[in-house]
This record gives sequence, structure tokens and C-alpha cells, in this order.
Amino acid sequence: MATKQGVSDRLEAITSSVLQPTAANGVQGRTGPFEEVIAGLTAMITKRREPGTEVLRFPPVMSRALLEKSGYLKSFPHLLGVVSSMHGTEGDIRALVEGRSSGRNWVEALEATDLVLTPAACYPVYPIIAARGDVARSGVIVDVESYCFRREASSELGRMQAFRMREYVCIGAPDTALAFRERWKARANEMATQLGVPFKLAPASDPFFGRAGKLMAMNQVEQALKFELLIPVNSEEDPTACMSFNYHQDHFGSTWGLKTDDGAVAHTACAAFGMDRLAVALFATHGLDLHTWPASVREVLSL
Ligand code: AMP
Ligand code: ZN
Repeated sequence: MATKQGVSDRLEAITSSVLQPTAANGVQGRTGPFEEVIAGLTAMITKRREPGTEVLRFPPVMSRALLEKSGYLKSFPHLLGVVSSMHGTEGDIRALVEGRSSGRNWVEALEATDLVLTPAACYPVYPIIAARGDVARSGVIVDVESYCFRREASSELGRMQAFRMREYVCIGAPDTALAFRERWKARANEMATQLGVPFKLAPASDPFFGRAGKLMAMNQVEQALKFELLIPVNSEEDPTACMSFNYHQDHFGSTWGLKTDDGAVAHTACAAFGMDRLAVALFATHGLDLHTWPASVREVLSL
């Protein structure tokens, strides 16, 4: 067992060597070794993709209207980042950036655009599938990935403002969505074991906003809607969620008019992999030098 000092030295080294800090909290550069681990994890997740899965990749911005309709503002307004831009004539904009605009600086003059920063990779999937018509009860599975943004208050290691999220999303009958989630919980167990990290899979809740949010979080745990795969990074007592397994019931189905071919509202589930967090957890567990990682871990990540 590493000493407390040993652990904090290792965390410090991850923060300043395999990652490179920038002027913005929680926004890091990724080094070659870090990206080698990400590539290994990506391949490991792809290898387990179920037959018939459709692949979709999204940029890190999405429609603001779409996110509003998804209910994000009700649940997580504190985490949202919005794309703003300048507007007006060339003269207006020049005056703003040159500080000649009657006491206003350019930041005050910004206006929200129709875009937000994507907070979770799966949001854009539901309306795309809904637009195609009914899905089979046996479900549609989509493989998505996106850089995501969350306006996180703390910048402890692994709590980033910008990070990559890979997800498998299932849309189908209630039992289809639940069975999908259970299969991914089992695969996650197997993957974490192969990666040689200490972990546990536990019921969890989302950081819902405000006092009403506390009730929603309690309800989520009570109904076992969310599970997380937790790996100690900063401390054993407060391990870091590196994957999550969510059953949304009919939330997205009702929102987007998603139906199964028997006319019922579709249920959805997703298995989400926090790619950067998984890489951080591996460096925290096995050390900074990839060459000294256990042979079995190197092999499974093709390092
Ligand atoms: P969630 O939608 O909160 O369940 O997030 C899905 C996965 O993304 C989590 O299991 C984490 O691994 C990862 N994740 C969430 N928030 C962050 C963050 N601030 N920094 C890095 N990874 C994150
Ligand atoms: Zn999701």
C-alpha cells in the first residue's frame, strides 16, 4: 500500500507530466503516453461492441434547442456551457474588441448562439433515431463518442471541464433496455479486472441541481436507475466514477416520441465510459511509466 505522501506525489505527477496543465482549471493537454492508453481503452471497448450496433460520432457542440427539450436545464443548469458570439456590424465588433464601445467590454456584449457544449455524448442520438420511426422491441444500439463539457466547480484530478465520453446507447422495449444495461455492467466488471485496477460497481445518482434535485437523486438510487464503476484515484474513501450504467426508463422515449413497433413508448439505457478518467485511474494505479505496468495490463491495452 502506497503511503499518503506517495499517493499525493503520484497524483501531482499525473497532473503535471502525463497531463499538461493549461491556464484553465480542468482543461489539460494530453501527452503521447496518455493517448496510447486512451487508444488501448478505445480498442478494448470497441472489441466488445454488440453485433448490429450503429456507429455515430458527434462534434463537441450540439443544438441548444435539442438540449433544452431533453430537460437538461431542469436537472443540470449549473454544469451547462453555452456558445456565445459577437454580433453587429463590422464597426460594432471592432469597437468592442478595441474597447471603444461606450464602457462595454466585448465579453459583456456576447450573445448566446443556437449552440451549447455537449454535456453527455448520448443526447444527440435520441432525436435522430426518433426521426426514423418506430424501433423494434428488441432495440437499436448506437455507439457514440464526443468530447463533453461540464462547468465543474472543483478541479480535483479526474474532474475535468472537458473530457471524452464513449457510450453505447440502447433504445427498445423496457426489458430490452434493462437487459442491455445489465450486460454492460457484467462486461465492465470483466474489463476492470483485466485492467488490474481496484474497483467496485455501486448504485449512484446524478448531481441534480438544487433542493428538488436531492429528491430526484434519492429516487434514482431507490429505483436503481444508475450504477457507477468506481476506482480509487484521489482517495480510497471517495473513489472516482469511471464508467456509468444508466436506465432512463421512458424519459427520452416520451420526450422524443420514440415508440417500439407495438406502439408503446420506448425505454432507453446507456453505458458510458469516461475515457480520460479511466486513463487517469490507470496511471494512478500502475504508475507513470507505461513500461513498468503489469504485463497482462500492457497486453490487454496493446501497449
Ligand atoms: P455521467 O453522465 O455523469 O454518468 O458521466 C459519464 C461518465 O463520464 C462518468 O462515468 C465519468 O467517467 C465521466 N465523467 C463525468 N464527469 C466527468 C468529469 N468532470 N471529468 C472527467 N470525466 C467525467
Ligand atoms: Zn448517456
